[in-house]
Amino acid sequence: MRIAPTPLLALATVPLLLSTVQAQDPDAVLANARRWVDTLASPALHGRGYISGGDSLAAELIAAEFDRLGLLPVRGSRFEPFSFTVNTFPDSVKLAVDGRSLRPGVDFLVDPASGSASGHYELVHLSLTDLATPERRAMTMGVATGKAIALHVPATRNADTLALLHDLQEDLLHHGPVLQMASGKLTWGVARQATPFPLLEIAREAWNDSATAIDLRVRNRLRNHNARNVWGLVKGRSSKQLVVLTAHYDHLGRMGPDVLFPGANDNASGVSMLINLAARYAREKPRYDMLFIAFAGEEAGLMGSRWCAVDRAFDLGAVKLLINLDLLGTGEEGITVVNATAQQEVFEAIVASNAATGRLAQVKPRGPACNSDHCPFAERGIPAIFIYTMGGIAAYHDVMDRAETLPLTDYHDVYLTLVDLINGLK
Ligand SMILES: [Zn+2]
Repeated sequence: MRIAPTPLLALATVPLLLSTVQAQDPDAVLANARRWVDTLASPALHGRGYISGGDSLAAELIAAEFDRLGLLPVRGSRFEPFSFTVNTFPDSVKLAVDGRSLRPGVDFLVDPASGSASGHYELVHLSLTDLATPERRAMTMGVATGKAIALHVPATRNADTLALLHDLQEDLLHHGPVLQMASGKLTWGVARQATPFPLLEIAREAWNDSATAIDLRVRNRLRNHNARNVWGLVKGRSSKQLVVLTAHYDHLGRMGPDVLFPGANDNASGVSMLINLAARYAREKPRYDMLFIAFAGEEAGLMGSRWCAVDRAFDLGAVKLLINLDLLGTGEEGITVVNATAQQEVFEAIVASNAATGRLAQVKPRGPACNSDHCPFAERGIPAIFIYTMGGIAAYHDVMDRAETLPLTDYHDVYLTLVDLINGLK
């Protein structure tokens, strides 16, 4: 699939020009991190998602940096293109309950898999008990047709109840818009499919138990999306084995033009670390070849890394270790190493280095989890770990994950930990 080149004019709108920092001392590493997080999470990159070509703009910036650092192309290219279907919201989303407008992103979210609807809808309040039997369900559907449904969700974590609820939601979304109160904080995502009508998640504080009508405007567009992983190679003293560093640069984008998900921690922080490490190893020749990959499409279901593992642009059998970096912006409570149980030796090396230096508050082991881009490789038996920082701000997949409030508490310590780990690989 060919990707249309991004016009230079669009790049010129990115506010912060990245200077040529030679990241070496702690201050320079941190300053470089700050600059990249500020740039990637700025409104000019549109949350690096699916409106206004945000992810493509980010890809261009990272590619230019890899060029500047002198990283070699892979298969003759800086990019690995692929494509997938994604559900997007190109227009402003509007919701008013009984005439009172709710704030998108703060009072409510449109579920990522929502379809379109617009107009005035009377509200029918339903709970699980109203829908418990097929007869009752059929009767209720009749009453609800042409109306919007306020679905009263029971406060439960019971898996069976939640599965039943999900089935009902799907059913109801064939009949009309559905509103429900969010179970916790508003958390967004990316969907690759769409339901016929929208599902609206309402914040607890904005939920009205006895609302009678809504005015709604949601327009979705389910479309094919061309994306690109960005990669670069540094030649080591030996090419027999390969160390791979990865971090996804995509985020959730925008919910309509006016609601931005900046994704500072997730994962501008990890991309900045990828770039800091690329800068270091482009200067000092590493022991093994090192491949740096900034993945696209992670938030849509690990699309970039899944494609990369299938595409096999490099010898998967030669991978000494793959280190995935995602959510590195905090660190008050140290780091977690996902897949530590499968990569015991690697985990112990990190623990030993931390015991000697006392840099991190904690190095916590975690078993396999398919929660980021290491997963498609780990599933194929390739030695892979995923490192994230813990503690600090709780902003995640919401409008609050901003550069301004990202502490980067233990950033330089994590950087040194990674350098120790890479340099210590036998
Ligand atoms: Zn992430």
